[in-house]
Amino acid sequence: MAVKSESLSWRLQRASRVFAASVLLSLIGMSVELAVFVVASSLILLTDLFHWAVDTVLEVVFLATLVVASKTRRRFPWSIIAVESSLTTLSCIAILGVYFYVFADYLFSLSESASVTTQEYTPLVATVSGGVLTVLAYSILSRAYRKYRIELLRVDSIHALVDTVAALMASLGVVLVVRTGSTAVELFFTFILMLFVFHSMIEVFKNNIKAFTGGQLDAELASRIAQRVKSELDKNASLLGVEARKLGSFYVVNVELEVDPDTTVLELHRLRERVVKTVLGVSELIYHVDVKYKPKYKRRVRRARRGLNSKRNR
Ligand SMILES: [Zn+2]
Repeated sequence: MAVKSESLSWRLQRASRVFAASVLLSLIGMSVELAVFVVASSLILLTDLFHWAVDTVLEVVFLATLVVASKTRRRFPWSIIAVESSLTTLSCIAILGVYFYVFADYLFSLSESASVTTQEYTPLVATVSGGVLTVLAYSILSRAYRKYRIELLRVDSIHALVDTVAALMASLGVVLVVRTGSTAVELFFTFILMLFVFHSMIEVFKNNIKAFTGGQLDAELASRIAQRVKSELDKNASLLGVEARKLGSFYVVNVELEVDPDTTVLELHRLRERVVKTVLGVSELIYHVDVKYKPKYKRRVRRARRGLNSKRNR
């Protein structure tokens, strides 16, 4: 067990290094977009910049989760997760607010000048280099997932793949708007890019809501754990129930057992160790196992009654 948890924390550490690289790529992408936006402002580029900002927040959340996870195997510091979730939610709302403020400003100037905001090809520098960075992030993340098998890496690599499409759409949008000079085309591509932003935002909020509500129940994993635990138990203990909750990419498992009231504390302690080991063996993403006991009252009553009877017979 010690070896296994060590190898998991090693994998988590490696995965968090990969995420650190991915955060760095995001920051570079965001800076390039920002720099180009200052020189050649455009509604499409603004929306793409907004997307980069939300994605950077998302990656920082992933990185923080992995760093916390790799440092503390047994006790998951929920208070840190709660603070982190509220911070990311607040920063996403702030980013959203800034975006809509600038967006409204653009729409207003658009109605006054009646011309498109994307008038030159310069924004392509940002969208194309953004696309290259995204492809790079995808290849790093998917290779790391095949190596370390950490769920968050897979989630983020899929996101990078989706974002490659977003970069293509942004570039296509810039070209088409400059060629046609049509505000309708510009608004259409802005809308499409907004969908990608909402895709990212939903991911941020989904993570946070799960952390606040105590996770999502996983019935399939619970039944798999129940089968394994049942095969481990002797006749003095029986399984009452198993609950597996998913938090981010990790699971917290509750096992409830019914035990003979005459069981000694030492036996309970050994039973608990055995059950925890069995449960941790089911999946490496299981983070914490709680074992609760209930005495088997029926048996005690029966025994007490038998005891009384034998006394009476004597
Ligand atoms: Zn994205």
